[in-house]
Amino acid sequence: MQDRDESQHSMVLEKEPTKKLKFAKNSGFQVELRRRVDELFQNSDFKERDCPQMYAKTAILLLVFWGTYAALVFLAQTWWQVLPLGILLGTITAGIGFGIQHDGAHHAYSRSPWVNQLMAMSLDMIGGSSYIWHWKHDVFHHTYTNIIGYDTDLEIGIFGRLAPDQPRLSFHRWQHYYLWLLYGFLAVKWHFYDDFNSLITGKIADRTYPRPKRGNLGVFLGGKLVFLVIAFVIPSLFHSIWLVLASYGLVAFVLGIVLSVVFQLAHVVEEAGFPVPIAETGIIENDWAIHQIETTVNFSRNNPLVTWLLGGLNFQVEHHLFPNICHINYPAISKVVEQTCQEFGVKYNYHNSFWTGCLSHFYWLRRMGNA
Ligand SMILES: [Zn+2]
Repeated sequence: MQDRDESQHSMVLEKEPTKKLKFAKNSGFQVELRRRVDELFQNSDFKERDCPQMYAKTAILLLVFWGTYAALVFLAQTWWQVLPLGILLGTITAGIGFGIQHDGAHHAYSRSPWVNQLMAMSLDMIGGSSYIWHWKHDVFHHTYTNIIGYDTDLEIGIFGRLAPDQPRLSFHRWQHYYLWLLYGFLAVKWHFYDDFNSLITGKIADRTYPRPKRGNLGVFLGGKLVFLVIAFVIPSLFHSIWLVLASYGLVAFVLGIVLSVVFQLAHVVEEAGFPVPIAETGIIENDWAIHQIETTVNFSRNNPLVTWLLGGLNFQVEHHLFPNICHINYPAISKVVEQTCQEFGVKYNYHNSFWTGCLSHFYWLRRMGNA
């Protein structure tokens, strides 16, 4: 179900120095699920990619983004005008990541590689490297979801313990309170530290990856330059640098919280598994599809507004099973996935609302923070 790219990566990537991971052989479940989803597309008007709704959504998100940016830079005069505009800009920036860049990066937006590349590069415009993202997210996170030492999304340094096999420090006992606040700094760290650190060291967390060269390096550096011009240079032509820095801080804080919470609700909750490979063989007990389902949790499936704003990432189970299919189709696919899970006795995890997902993340953090 993952694209050929990722399967190939999964065959060659190693946890340093030599340990290779393998999933158990494809079970009948994976084959039957793929067959049913193929059938869904054959017998309906759904399109796997190039969905007209995606092009409309892209236009709306970019219009609101630039409209809000212009209002913030050229019109806002007082703090009570800056505050709501900054919150909206942070939220819409996350929406560009969820609704445009993410599909492009997974080749799920279009059949044309250049369209996918262009959409993936919307991340460079908002401050993150699309090249580093490909390795961190498409490869390390999607292939090895919730496996400690392989899924770099679980690595948050000493600040928190997200999984049972991570070391516990004494102050983690308060992590279910303070991590929510620290999530707000994710975007600033990403903009100014993580990408550059990965470029210099050749590592994402402690996983090695091929450093960007030529064109990819050009996009990396050009993207950072464009972002700096948008975020700092243009606003500072009209406002004091302190106001510009404060406004950037506000937008980045909102962006960090929205991004973090949406991703944590999918994998770092009480219902998600954190499987450990068999030490001698490096084999994961389940086949790849069942592994994805057991490590991933949906939320708010019946809320179309949430689905629209989050680019279908409230349907993370479907996203992890079919990352190369446009997210517009996830609600339809989820019915097939849930039914197939029921028939094969695979537990399909979901929360009815965003808030029950947040509570579950809170309880999981509390459990991991205590001995
Ligand atoms: Zn993804």
